[in-house]
Amino acid sequence: MVSDMRNDKVECQCCKKMMVPKVITSAPFYISGVPVGGRDPEASVCPFCLSPKWMLTEEQVLTGAKANAEFYGIIVLLMINIVVFTRLGAEAVGVSVGLSVLLFLFRAQIAKAVKDRLTEIFKG
Ligand SMILES: [Zn+2]
Repeated sequence: MVSDMRNDKVECQCCKKMMVPKVITSAPFYISGVPVGGRDPEASVCPFCLSPKWMLTEEQVLTGAKANAEFYGIIVLLMINIVVFTRLGAEAVGVSVGLSVLLFLFRAQIAKAVKDRLTEIFKG
């Protein structure tokens, strides 16, 4: 990508339009007609799609999504372990935690294997 230094327009990562980010300020409150607070720049948004995420590159979005998926996965594993513990007790939870740790350590390989399998299915 060639960046033009004379032009401060940037490409919005949401709608892909070239734009100048619009700074939005918080609205002041009025007490007896006197404005109190507000006027601090809060965020900048794309004037076309009004997205504050205009500066995120696709890569950053994907990294964020991946981190969310991992976080969600950890929570699910934790929940499973809690259920195993409450239903089956401490001995079963030892096995369950072990499996969870293995699943977590091999998550990349598992994800790849599942993805490959799905690709095969979809390709017929
Ligand atoms: Zn936009």
